[in-house]
Amino acid sequence: MASGHRAGTVWPVISHSTAVGVTSALAEAVVDLDAVAANVRTIAAVTRTDLMAVVKADGFGHGAVPVARAALAAGATWLGVTSSAEALALRDSGVGAPILSWLHRPDEDFGPLLAAGVDVAVSTLPHLRAVAAAAAAATSGGPAMVQLKVDTGLSRNGARHGSDWADLVALARAHEMAGSIRVRGVWSHLADADQPGSPLVRRQVSAFRTAVRVARAGGLDPVLLHLANSGAALTAPATRFDICRVGLALYGVDPGGGRDIGLRPAMTLRSSVVNLKQVPAGTGVSYGPDHVTAEPTTLALVPVGFADGLPRNAEGRAEVWVGGARCPIVGRIAMDQCVVDVGDRPVRLGDPVTVFGPGPDEPTVTEWARWAGTNPNDVLTGIGARVARRYQGVAA
Ligand SMILES: *Cc1c(COP(=O)(O)O)cnc(C)c1O
Repeated sequence: MASGHRAGTVWPVISHSTAVGVTSALAEAVVDLDAVAANVRTIAAVTRTDLMAVVKADGFGHGAVPVARAALAAGATWLGVTSSAEALALRDSGVGAPILSWLHRPDEDFGPLLAAGVDVAVSTLPHLRAVAAAAAAATSGGPAMVQLKVDTGLSRNGARHGSDWADLVALARAHEMAGSIRVRGVWSHLADADQPGSPLVRRQVSAFRTAVRVARAGGLDPVLLHLANSGAALTAPATRFDICRVGLALYGVDPGGGRDIGLRPAMTLRSSVVNLKQVPAGTGVSYGPDHVTAEPTTLALVPVGFADGLPRNAEGRAEVWVGGARCPIVGRIAMDQCVVDVGDRPVRLGDPVTVFGPGPDEPTVTEWARWAGTNPNDVLTGIGARVARRYQGVAA
């Protein structure tokens, strides 16, 4: 159980393009680590705070380890993950930077997390007791590093501000006195962060300040206060405190609600044309068929489908970039493939297809999310395991 961490670790340089997965993959997600690095610098220039790179859910589908390395090399000081498994996977890959892990079962064995020097976010009394017990049982190391979470209005995790919070603070202080834990941070999460000027954000900031006062009055001395996610970090200065937890913006997706600061989308989803046919008017396309050609045209088959993360309900709106133009996906998106109407463009078998990328030629993930009636996080984290990840850039 180590309470310290190795800040300032230097990471190996990835100076070439690294492919993960077989080279014959039908689709690949090219992750530009230079874009991740540039986004860290762009965000920090706006927030003027430290940044916690949120690499949960395998780095929003981009690959947690390469993204973490690129973000740290560009100046991020912390990593944020959901679970012990995610935190320990980073440590197993040699990532020594400070990590906060924030979602745990109350009966979880916290020993491995503490031994790995990971900060544990704690929201309930049973979790606090379990962390303190694991720290006390450890044969080496100092107190467990804990960051207490207060629920300031999201009604998700965190101790409800008021008496629940006061109870958590009191128990934490008792365990601090006993030497089993140390409260490094106090934090919360916003409910309406992508609406600048939202009265809810103001109320949550105020509740958060009150909770910090209660913690200090209770004898705690948290040195790391944090509230903002990407949207709040970029648009609501009062939410920034000591560090901002950035996910979406790190990956180059504009959380919306603010001015354009030039974030660079990090992921490009690519495939290619594996079948090409000329069809007459009146030809049914894909299951149903939901689509029947209105005139003679050329149909290109692209081997990427909903198992790869294309949202089925983007049908009728989605486009891809092929043959130097945006062309519509026609008919139902199937599990493994979709059909694109390329009209009379000079598309050939094997030609590259860009499903989404930085834009503006090809669609962006933000456009895909709009077509599917969801958010970009949903599309990015849905990119399937059989899509090969390829890393580009010298940023790491
Ligand atoms: C996912 C997550 C974030 C990152 O949110 P973005 O809006 O993607 O920046 C920050 N904090 C917590 C607690 C999260 O779960």
